[in-house]
Amino acid sequence: MPLLDDGAMNLVRCKTCVMPNTRPDTPFVDGECSACVSYRARKAIDWQQRMATLTQILDTAKRNSSGFDCIVPSSGGKDSTYQVTRLILLGVKPLIVTATTCHLTRLGRANIDNLARYATTIEVTPNRDVRRALNRKGLELVGDISWPEHASIFSAPLRMAVHLGIPTIFYGENPQEAYGGPLGSEQAEQMTRRWISEFGGFLGLRAKDMVDSEITERHMKDYIPPSQDELDRVGVRAYFLGQFEAWDSRRNAERAMQCGMRTTMMPPTPGNWWVFENLDNAQTGLHDWFMFLKYGFGRGCQQISVDVRSGYIERERALRWVEAHDGLFPESYAGVSVYDVLGACGINVATLRRTAERFRNPNVCWRQMPKELQPS
Ligand SMILES: [Zn+2]
Repeated sequence: MPLLDDGAMNLVRCKTCVMPNTRPDTPFVDGECSACVSYRARKAIDWQQRMATLTQILDTAKRNSSGFDCIVPSSGGKDSTYQVTRLILLGVKPLIVTATTCHLTRLGRANIDNLARYATTIEVTPNRDVRRALNRKGLELVGDISWPEHASIFSAPLRMAVHLGIPTIFYGENPQEAYGGPLGSEQAEQMTRRWISEFGGFLGLRAKDMVDSEITERHMKDYIPPSQDELDRVGVRAYFLGQFEAWDSRRNAERAMQCGMRTTMMPPTPGNWWVFENLDNAQTGLHDWFMFLKYGFGRGCQQISVDVRSGYIERERALRWVEAHDGLFPESYAGVSVYDVLGACGINVATLRRTAERFRNPNVCWRQMPKELQPS
């Protein structure tokens, strides 16, 4: 059975990697996706100049009285571990701010603890009952069980920056540069409030839309970035470290493993290509599966496309892998059964099935689902 009815969905894959043109806001130029165009443009970038700019930013960052030079928003994963250890090598003292994931895995716990060997770590854990309610609403309203996860990843570090008076924050890569996005977005050096509202994964859903009889406006404070006035009062600037030195996921993973990050022998689920990414949140499988149902590509397709660009794997081999694996149902993720993931947030199988059907592009075929989830 083909993955997609190519004609009906008008699916065309990038001529360089294997990403389809069904990714939202990712225009193709002469048959090539914007991530491939950005990757090639890296060769023309004066990286020495960028590093000189970074050095200036770090010098300014040190001029605050908080006791820390900058904040690194972290999951304990490969990029976070790289960011923290790289910044320490560059002579700064980071504070790690970890926004707790929706369903932390044992490996995720171990990697957060490992990274805490290198720098002081603050873990921000919003009210768990509210969080579970947000998981349910995120799934039903926008087809994203991980809506609160993404909201807190962007809001928690900014809120801590304002609270503790630490003006400089370093996120990892610019996602539009690494994975594609609207033309020009790949050049963003800073993550602003406007960037968060456009690319922060809110899917058109505002925090105040979540307020109901169970969830109050005060509960939602954990998921809202500080106001521009609050950010300006501390002079908060959130940078993408990947705009100052070329981002390389495999290099980051190798460095992270040398620094004690644990990974697995096999990817967390068969629809993933990398063994070293997103190991901390058991909900990630469902999040990625819904992306496949909506747009016709899964996380594995994005991961293997990065490896095609860097020359790690040939395009034809990648295409065969994508045809065999992309969109496979995540019966388990990082060792956690999907039924445990659903049960933890009070979602039953019928709701999952109904929601999946509602968000599925009609041209995306169901693939290898457990019997109870298969359409009749
Ligand atoms: Zn491409």
